[in-house]
Amino acid sequence: MSGAAKSLLVTGGSRGIGAAVAILAASSGYRVAVNFVTNKAAAETVVGEIIAAGGEAFPVRGDVGSARDIEAMFGEVDQRFGRLDALVNNAGIVDKKSRVDEMTAERLDRMMRVNITGSVLCAAEAVRRMSVKHGGSGGAIVNLSSVAAILGGSGQYVDYAASKGAIDTFTVGLAREVAQEGIRVNAVRPGIIDTEIHASGGEPNRIAQLRGSVPMMREGTAHEVAEAVLWLLSDAASYTTGAIIDVSGGR
Ligand code: NAP
Repeated sequence: MSGAAKSLLVTGGSRGIGAAVAILAASSGYRVAVNFVTNKAAAETVVGEIIAAGGEAFPVRGDVGSARDIEAMFGEVDQRFGRLDALVNNAGIVDKKSRVDEMTAERLDRMMRVNITGSVLCAAEAVRRMSVKHGGSGGAIVNLSSVAAILGGSGQYVDYAASKGAIDTFTVGLAREVAQEGIRVNAVRPGIIDTEIHASGGEPNRIAQLRGSVPMMREGTAHEVAEAVLWLLSDAASYTTGAIIDVSGGR
């Protein structure tokens, strides 16, 4: 098994940034597990593209807001690949534009469960497989944060921004915790990226509205974010851990 290609699990790999990461990783030689929660067709499209290009991938359903789903998902990756070398904690959600004094407990619970608890539980599963302390061969984890963690999301989604602030802190803490166990943990903090997440938060025109506030005066592409993720996963970043890279056009 040691001669087998490295394997990667991308949560939320069916669309947007996760799909770009899955495709770029496969072209770099990773075998890729493409996680989705509802959009099986999108995951199959990503997997089909990878296989057509000569790569190896499979779709795996799982809600990162469910501890049981996460356990089952990692079990499937074990069965298919027999090892795990990399995790990209990419699955994340926004919600409708809202002030804090309008937010419900249900909304907050879902936001924190998917964006924070899901990423922490997935990282825990990965550490149990990768850590040399647990008999693993090491590995790399990249978490998807957001520049909202710095900007705060006022009047839009402070809950989402706070969940990403937690991801930044988690990245630094876990990086230091497992630094001597062969695992590097880093994050990418995207700015305004052209994906469907804006429409799913009820703001289909968000990119057009905010483009002018970006120093580079344009939105980014999912591929541009994926390039940073792949660098952090790679051996080229062998001395980089606990780092958070902004991919935001200067925003
Ligand atoms: P997206 O286009 O909305 O895609 C979301 C992906 O996550 C889909 O593959 C979706 O699966 C999956 N997903 C959603 N909820 C899930 C759950 N509970 N369990 C498992 N998978 C789930 O999002 P994106 O824009 O690519 O964003 C990816 C990450 O980057 C997120 O963490 C986001 O917060 C962060 N980010 C994005 C931007 C931006 O401007 N786009 C900026 C900063 C940070 P299905 O296809 O099955 O629905």
